[in-house]
Amino acid sequence: MDGSKAPTTAPVLILLGPPGAGKGTQARMLDHAYGLVQLSTGDLLRAAVAAGTDAGNAAKAVMDAGGLVSDDIVIAILRDRLAEPDCARGVILDGFPRTTIQAEALDRLLSEQGKRINAAISLDVDDAAMVARIAGRFTCGGCGEGYHDSFKLPAIKGKCDTCQSTAFKRRADDTPTTVATRLAAYHAQTAPLIAFYETQGALARVDAMGAIDDVATALGAIVAKATA
Ligand code: AMP
Repeated sequence: MDGSKAPTTAPVLILLGPPGAGKGTQARMLDHAYGLVQLSTGDLLRAAVAAGTDAGNAAKAVMDAGGLVSDDIVIAILRDRLAEPDCARGVILDGFPRTTIQAEALDRLLSEQGKRINAAISLDVDDAAMVARIAGRFTCGGCGEGYHDSFKLPAIKGKCDTCQSTAFKRRADDTPTTVATRLAAYHAQTAPLIAFYETQGALARVDAMGAIDDVATALGAIVAKATA
């Protein structure tokens, strides 16, 4: 670490868990409750695809198939986003790191900035339930609020609770075949990070099979302790 830089207390939290575990939903709630910036590499990559950047063009086919985008591309996107001023208030990483190479790169990036990981929180779920969870989810096209056909419908049908938009969207990669590939990628490449963060003493675990608000309460207690 550069000794001239004072260590900052801005928290850095990581949400680990397979697709459908609720990382995006919970990260959004933590964003609102704690003023942390939600950094979703999935969202950043989808924006890069939509904008037609070189990184987006390189990532699109892999994302459509449910595989993992190359570490180089994802690390570069995350590094650029982390350097933006709003991240100084603290971040919650949703969907990054997903490989050991990404986790090691994150450690280096944070140490260059005098920061550290406060907690890596694993959202523990059963694989079997994930396909149903993913199949029913959709988001507001206006503000990104997440909904679900069974678990969380807008209070007024067809209208976003948060921004009143009537435009909703479903992800192209939320199909049963792609979900199976994404779950396999999680177990092969991302699940080993649970042991990685346990070794660092940063791991916390939450049972994420319950209701959204119950998971948020359990998560909030961990975040409050980790950022105290
Ligand atoms: P997500 O929105 O987190 O489910 O991510 C959607 C897709 O983006 C994934 O299935 C991957 O293809 C890609 N992706 C997102 N984050 C990463 C990452 N950290 N490493 C590699 N690929 C990623």
